[in-house]
Amino acid sequence: MDSSLYNTSIPCPVCSKKFEVTKVKAKSSKLHSRDSDFCVYYEGINPIYYEVYVCENCGYAAQADKFDSISSNEASIILKNISSRWTKRSFSGERTLDTAIEAFKLALYNMHLRKAKGSELAKICIRIAWLFRLKNDEKEMDFLKFALKGYSEAYERENFPVEKLDEFTCLYMIGELNRRIGNLDESVKWFSRLIGSPEARKNPKLIDMAREQFQAVKEQMAQM
Ligand SMILES: [Zn+2]
Repeated sequence: MDSSLYNTSIPCPVCSKKFEVTKVKAKSSKLHSRDSDFCVYYEGINPIYYEVYVCENCGYAAQADKFDSISSNEASIILKNISSRWTKRSFSGERTLDTAIEAFKLALYNMHLRKAKGSELAKICIRIAWLFRLKNDEKEMDFLKFALKGYSEAYERENFPVEKLDEFTCLYMIGELNRRIGNLDESVKWFSRLIGSPEARKNPKLIDMAREQFQAVKEQMAQM
């Protein structure tokens, strides 16, 4: 295994059995660059590959930072719908792009069964889209669309900030994902809303990014 990775054993909140997870040592990933939808590129190990824990015993999967946040009612939904059909399989050790995608898809399926909120689904779907981007796989577009649906639902129904997601970053993502999937009119609408918001000026970096992307959409439209 790569020297920047290590294994540790944790208890599963669904089946209570212990299993091994693989973590990335702090400071072993160096930020290289970032796309306009916050997809980050690293030198060395990509920590996103290891963000999802999958219990090898029951198939419960979730992002590491939320792994323990599951109600007993949700746990029984997982036991009934996933564990009963799960064949023991470990996701510990070095992951490939494909196993990282599989782990995220399992987390998405778990979330779907738990009737997760739009913001939570968006967080998983945007990461799956980024992994497909790294793979140069056109399935990226499907997951950008799912992520957009999640952000749009979050914007309509949730109270901001939702964890680390504030209202204006959510607006930005709706504009940017519409641009990426080719809904240019929609993209202009959402970027304009963000740029025109007096409150959003508290985050000048985000406004600068929105202005840049607003320009990008205008150029895309002019080319058509
Ligand atoms: Zn388990």
